[in-house]
Amino acid sequence: MYDIAIIGGGVTGFGAAMYARRLNLKTVVFSERTGGTIILTDRVENYPGFKLLTGVELAEKLQEHAMEYKPDLIEERAEVITREGKCFRIIVGEKTYEARTVLFATGTKHRELKVPGHDTFMNRGVHYCALCDGAFYRGKVLAVVGGSDSAAKEALVLAQHGSKVYMVYRGEKIRPEPVNYERVLANRKIEIIYHTNVTEILGDKSVSGVRLDRPYKGKDILPLDGVFVAIGLLSLSELAVKLGVKVNPKGEIIINRKSETNIPGVYAAGDVADTEFKQAITGVAEGVTATYHAYKYVSESEVCATGDQTAQ
Ligand SMILES: Cc1cc2nc3c(=O)[nH]c(=O)nc-3n(C[C@H](O)[C@H](O)[C@H](O)COP(=O)(O)OP(=O)(O)OC[C@H]3O[C@@H](n4cnc5c(N)ncnc54)[C@H](O)[C@@H]3O)c2cc1C
Repeated sequence: MYDIAIIGGGVTGFGAAMYARRLNLKTVVFSERTGGTIILTDRVENYPGFKLLTGVELAEKLQEHAMEYKPDLIEERAEVITREGKCFRIIVGEKTYEARTVLFATGTKHRELKVPGHDTFMNRGVHYCALCDGAFYRGKVLAVVGGSDSAAKEALVLAQHGSKVYMVYRGEKIRPEPVNYERVLANRKIEIIYHTNVTEILGDKSVSGVRLDRPYKGKDILPLDGVFVAIGLLSLSELAVKLGVKVNPKGEIIINRKSETNIPGVYAAGDVADTEFKQAITGVAEGVTATYHAYKYVSESEVCATGDQTAQ
């Protein structure tokens, strides 16, 4: 019987695991893709205490720190979570684990660009990670679809490889962090196309261009070699929803200032939660808050006990 089962091995999950163990909670972390989203970036400049490090380095540091305190780590996907009275069961393949509390730190997946040609050219000119795939496009013409801070960071990575990078954005003004906005504007390889959507990805064996819903320089086809999509992330909240946890219309788990959900003993933190500003530091903070309140819950209330018949 674990005191807390943390679902997710991103920065939020490992930050929470470190605190949970320091609070003496018997802790298990289920982690499908250890590291999570932060490993997609090569520049993290806004995690307090570190002026600059890569996403992989930050993820590794948080994991290493947590593992010092020896939580159990199960590097598999938690498939089903059920509630039996006040106990929770986490099912992974043939195995069932039991816990008194559950923290959802399951993060997000990419929102897909749903246009013709997307599936045909997936990984053959259509990509979702500049750091992973950008280097294949040395000297090529590329586009990033999106206007967020992540999109700007993707464009900056691609500008290190490509000869030209368009940012195609449907809105009026891209909205990166000011420092990244300045970098985009200062980068001669990057050009922003506003008020425009990509409506089709074109090509033969690989991508040759995209169709735009608004002509750019008189043409509605923009010739290029690769498209990197950064149009947002979708919360991985299905497991929580099946458990009865409430989500907002965007599918984000609704939490309060204690990182509690509507179900006693169930918490959520990080990108999967409904907090507006989603960053590594805010996810870690929410995860740590969750563990503190899980600790109070386990120590103060009558929660599921070892050998509790309801949990057999
Ligand atoms: C391109 C880009 C650049 C960014 N740059 C920065 C930056 O510079 N600074 C910054 O602070 N933030 C940055 N961010 C945001 C930051 O990456 C996220 O806010 C943060 O990583 C969220 O962490 P998380 O642990 O909540 O979720 P995630 O990182 O998504 O981790 C969730 C983890 O849960 C696992 N998981 C999901 N479901 C299950 C399951 N059923 N069972 C087991 N495991 C499961 C996933 O595999 C994953 O490992 C950037 C994001 C992007 C996309």
